[in-house]
Amino acid sequence: MGSVLVIGAGGVGNVVVRKCAAVPDVFERLCLASRTVSKCERIAADLPRPIETAQVNADDPAQVAALIRKFKPDLVLNVALPYQDLPIMDACLETGVDYLDTANYEPRDEAKFEYKWQWAYHDRFREKGIMALLGSGFDPGVTNIFCAHAQKHHFDEIHTIDIFDCNAGDHGHPFATNFNPEINIREVSANGRYWADGQWVQTAPMEIKHTFDFPEGIGPRDAYLLHHEEMESLGKQYPEIRRMRFWMTFSPSYLTHLRVLENVGMTRIDPVVYEGREIVPLRFLQALLPDPGSLGPRTTGKTCIGCWVRGEKDGRPRAYYVYNVCDHRECFREVGSQAVSYTTGVPAAVGAKMLLSGQWSGPGVFNLEQFDPDPFLATLAEWGLPWTETFPPYEQTW
Ligand code: NDP
Repeated sequence: MGSVLVIGAGGVGNVVVRKCAAVPDVFERLCLASRTVSKCERIAADLPRPIETAQVNADDPAQVAALIRKFKPDLVLNVALPYQDLPIMDACLETGVDYLDTANYEPRDEAKFEYKWQWAYHDRFREKGIMALLGSGFDPGVTNIFCAHAQKHHFDEIHTIDIFDCNAGDHGHPFATNFNPEINIREVSANGRYWADGQWVQTAPMEIKHTFDFPEGIGPRDAYLLHHEEMESLGKQYPEIRRMRFWMTFSPSYLTHLRVLENVGMTRIDPVVYEGREIVPLRFLQALLPDPGSLGPRTTGKTCIGCWVRGEKDGRPRAYYVYNVCDHRECFREVGSQAVSYTTGVPAAVGAKMLLSGQWSGPGVFNLEQFDPDPFLATLAEWGLPWTETFPPYEQTW
C-alpha cells in the first residue's frame, strides 16, 4: 500500500517498525532513520524482512528533506523527540509528504507543550495538499479516539471526561522512567491544569490526588492531576464539555525520588556551568538513569489507560468507562519492549495505516478525534491493543 520513513530508533521506534514490518501488504517499504544509526541497524537485523536504515539529525530540516528525496516515502512517522516535530514538518512541507507523530512540539528551553506551534502549519499543509496527523500514540492518541467513539456511539452530549493513565508495572529499579527521561520528567514536574466551565484552571504539580480503583486485578492506585496535551484538542473539538481532567498514577517511591531530584536542582532545564562548560542538569540526569529501552526484560505488571466519560443519552444521564489493559511481559515477549513503548508504538502504526489506506484523509493538520474512530479502533484491537467498555453508575464523588 505504501512506504514509511520512521524517524527515531528508541523504545517506541522499535515497536512501530516491528508492527509495520509484520504487515507487508500495508507497509510495502520501510526505512528506520535516527541520530545513532547503529540503533536502527540493531532493530533491522532482528526483523522478519529487510528494511532500509539511515543516519539523520532530525533537528535539521535539510537533512530530513534529503533523506525523504532519497527514500521517497508516502509518510514520515516521527517517533524521535517532541523537539524534532517542527523541523520534520518543515521537511514534509518542502517535499510534499504526509506526516504523523505521537507527541506535540516542545521548545527545548521551556517545559511547555501546546499544539499552537503545530496547528499553525494547517494552512501550509492544506495548500500543499498533504496531511499531518498529530498525537497518534496512546495518550494522546487512543484516548482521543475513545472520546470520539463515546461521542459517536454512546452520548448525545458529553459533560465530563476524566482520562486515567496507570502504569502498575514494576521494573525493579529504585527510579526509572518508562519513556524518554528528559521528556517524562519535564511533563510530570510541570504545573497541573484542567478544564472547568469554559476555562483552564492551573494547579501546583501533584497538588490534586484521587485514589482510583483500576480494573482487571490492578486495584486502587493514587492518581495525580496533570496537564496533558489531548485535553487541548478535545476541548477544541467538543467545546460543550464542562470539565476535563487527566490523571496519572505514581508510586510513593517515584514521587519521593522526584521531589529530591527537584529540590537539589537535578531537574533544571537551564544550562549551568560545571568545570568550565555548560551542562543542562536534566540531560545529565538522563545519562545516569536507566535507558527506558532496557526496562523491557525486567518489567512485570500491567498498564491501564482509559477514559471515564459522563453525559446524556436519550435524555438520561449516562457514565461510560472505556480502557485498555496491557501486560508488560506479554509486550516484551512479542516485540522486545515494555508496555509503555508498546501502547505508543501500536497506535502510531495504526494511524499510519489510516493514512496509507485513505480511510482517513484530507489536506491540513489534524488530531485523531476529527476522524471516524471505527476503523482505527477495529485495527487497534486486531494489532494487539483490545479495549473494554463498561457503563458504571453516573454518580461520582471525585
Ligand atoms: P527514546 O528516547 O527511547 O527514543 C527517541 C529516539 O529519537 C532515539 O533513538 C534518539 O536517538 C532519536 N532522536 C533524538 N533526537 C534526534 C535527532 N535530533 N535526530 C534523529 N533522531 C533523534 O524515546 P521513546 O521511544 O520512549 O519516545 C519516542 C516519542 O514517543 C517521544 O516523542 C515521546 O514523547 C513519545 N511518546 C508518546 C506517548 C503517547 O502515548 N502519545 C507515550 C510515550 C512516548 P539516539 O538514540 O541517538 O538518542
